[in-house]
Amino acid sequence: MKRHVGEEEQRSCCALCQKVLMDPVSTSCGHWFCRQCITSYWVQSTPSGPSSCPQCETEHLQPELTSI
Ligand SMILES: [Zn+2]
Ligand SMILES: [Zn+2]
Repeated sequence: MKRHVGEEEQRSCCALCQKVLMDPVSTSCGHWFCRQCITSYWVQSTPSGPSSCPQCETEHLQPELTSI
């Protein structure tokens, strides 16, 4: 029995920690991260000013995180 690896599984992997998403949130550019990862990434990389997506570098003046 072979399972098909689809988008569903790609999306469940965080680009920051390379692990399965924990408390997944999506940015307005459509990328998925763990809430913990993206929050601390933004705090560390951009203490002030626009926060950019670690994956596509889209700047978010007001980070919008959507929970699933
Ligand atoms: Zn993560
Ligand atoms: Zn992005």
